[in-house]
Amino acid sequence: MSDDVCEALEQSLSWGHERVELVRDAGSGLHAVIAIHSTVLGPALGGLRMRRYAGGLPEALDDALRLSRAMTLKASAAGLDLGGGKAVVLADDAGRDAGQRAARLRAFARELERLRGAYITAEDVGTSTADMDLLAEHTHHVVGTTRRGGLGGVGGDPSPSTVRTVLGAMSVALEALDGDAALAGRSVGVIGLGKVGGRLAERLLEAGARVVGTDPDADACRRARARGVGLAPSAAALLTRPLDVLAPCAVGGMVDADAAATIGCRVVCGSANNALADERAADRLADRGVLYVPDFLANCGGLIQADCERRRETDPARLEQALDAARERTRAVLLEARADGRLPSAVAEEHAWRRIRAARERPHAAAVAA
Ligand code: NAD
Repeated sequence: MSDDVCEALEQSLSWGHERVELVRDAGSGLHAVIAIHSTVLGPALGGLRMRRYAGGLPEALDDALRLSRAMTLKASAAGLDLGGGKAVVLADDAGRDAGQRAARLRAFARELERLRGAYITAEDVGTSTADMDLLAEHTHHVVGTTRRGGLGGVGGDPSPSTVRTVLGAMSVALEALDGDAALAGRSVGVIGLGKVGGRLAERLLEAGARVVGTDPDADACRRARARGVGLAPSAAALLTRPLDVLAPCAVGGMVDADAAATIGCRVVCGSANNALADERAADRLADRGVLYVPDFLANCGGLIQADCERRRETDPARLEQALDAARERTRAVLLEARADGRLPSAVAEEHAWRRIRAARERPHAAAVAA
């Protein structure tokens, strides 16, 4: 095992991961990492990411470890009885061959069965509702599938629910700054015009915002432009542009300390998990008076939908109520942070860890652990 992999595994111990699985299936060529950070509140739920990792296994492992921990925070902050997990498939060929992709997904489904529900998977970057449907033919431990009929037609792709909570979080962030929650007339930059970012840009336009986006995918750009989204040449160009809101909706870590030092927006609020590269980026944004809405608060809509699906909730009104409640929780965190002179991320994390600690200390949790 390389030094980098050992280092990442040591990191997982310090972050308290319960289980980290390195998976290799020779028959299908599946090469994956499954990271279960916590099952204290319930089974670990988190997406299945399929992408090329230039840094190979150490980079994929690091991604899975960070993302699974973020899922623990997200589920707890959203008040769900779920823990945090994540799976990443190292796809050097981006799973281009359909037969090979299906074989890898079947092998992945066998791993899910082996974990017996400790980890429940879902759609993420590089995977689709069709992939979840394929997995559902072989395992119950998957959400985001259309095979169970969905929530009165709302099941499947979680992105619309994620867009709902990102929009809600943007509104309350603007309200916290200006006393006005309206999106009309605001300038918003969207980095990544995929399932979430593309739809988010559309909803923002409908709400009367001015939207500019960027994506290396020419088709995504073409679709966005056809709907009235202005285009920027790159994420770097959007990072420095004066904007009311910047919405990172691509991969994580795009706002690092250097980017934060020259960022042009007043609010950072998007769907990308772990949007900030590190604590230094958070501090620098705060020093410059930029309000950062913790991504795990803003993007919890997809997880809330997945939880409804998992619990076989059939009333779409319940999902709507839960998505509205998420916006109110974000508002409360921003108010508390301002009142205490703290960062919203510190307040939100404190709430999330407190809930996990309380669950761990409950007598029945202790009995199970024994
Ligand atoms: P997606 O794969 O559909 O879209 C991501 C888009 O980002 C793609 O179009 C890709 O080309 C683009 N992109 C990649 N690198 C870029 C760069 N350097 N600059 C600009 N664009 C770039 O994924 P998605 O489902 O829309 O998710 C987006 C982000 O939100 C991910 O980080 C994901 O983990 C997170 N998220 C998604 C959901 C959901 O419901 N889909 C829920 C919570 C969090």
